[in-house]
Amino acid sequence: MPELPEVETTRRGLAPHVERQKVTAVRIYDRRLRWPVPRDLPRRLVGRTVDRIDRRSKYLLFRLGVDTLIVHMGMTGSLRVFADPPPKQAHDHIDLEFGNGKVLRYRDPRRFGAMLWSPGSSSGHPLLAELGVEPFSTEFDADYLYRATRRRRAAIKLALMDSHVVVGVGNIYANESLFRAGIRPHRPANRVSRPRLARLVSAVRETLADAIAKGGSTLRDYVDSRGEPGSFQLDYYVYGREGEPCRVCGASIRSLRLGGRATSYCPSCQR
Ligand SMILES: [Zn+2]
Repeated sequence: MPELPEVETTRRGLAPHVERQKVTAVRIYDRRLRWPVPRDLPRRLVGRTVDRIDRRSKYLLFRLGVDTLIVHMGMTGSLRVFADPPPKQAHDHIDLEFGNGKVLRYRDPRRFGAMLWSPGSSSGHPLLAELGVEPFSTEFDADYLYRATRRRRAAIKLALMDSHVVVGVGNIYANESLFRAGIRPHRPANRVSRPRLARLVSAVRETLADAIAKGGSTLRDYVDSRGEPGSFQLDYYVYGREGEPCRVCGASIRSLRLGGRATSYCPSCQR
């Protein structure tokens, strides 16, 4: 499933080809995504210019004047740019063609993704309105996380993965961030001190930034390629390493389940 780093990498990969370009054609091959693709999308888009692509959580927001095309890649979706598109294949659902001749193709074998039109600002859209803060925003700091967790006795990892608190911290990134911050994932959220929450904020940003940087080297996969973009394999400290030695201290990595998700930590480095 595309996580925040993959979505951000996609955004950066698409932007140079799509931004400031006029939409010249929209071809919908299959409307049946998670929600039906609006029938009037071609009428809405053709002749309009994509000013820029923003990202909110795992949504890509194509800004066309005051209006927004919201795109989510679901479980298996991908967006690629072609200068000379190959014939449409089985899971290719939508093509957007631009004035520069490039074609943006949405592919999604399981069709859990979405492509929706939002007139006006998309901030009040039901999919976006309830989202927590962005991990790279200035609002996400130790004070914010302190306030958000004082009434939470559940595990700190669950607070970190709660998209009403902060968006984009999936299971892998939560595990890795907590290791980097030296905090046990099952520690009650309201028992983590403010200085340690400050370390956690930094660790979340560093972990996501490392994954985005890793993705930068695979950017070409998003452009003029028929291949599937690989997921970003960080050199994980704890995720998926149960029973293996900690890369820092050599202790055996332990695991448990939290909220039904695989959770691993170093009993020596994390307190
Ligand atoms: Zn360790």
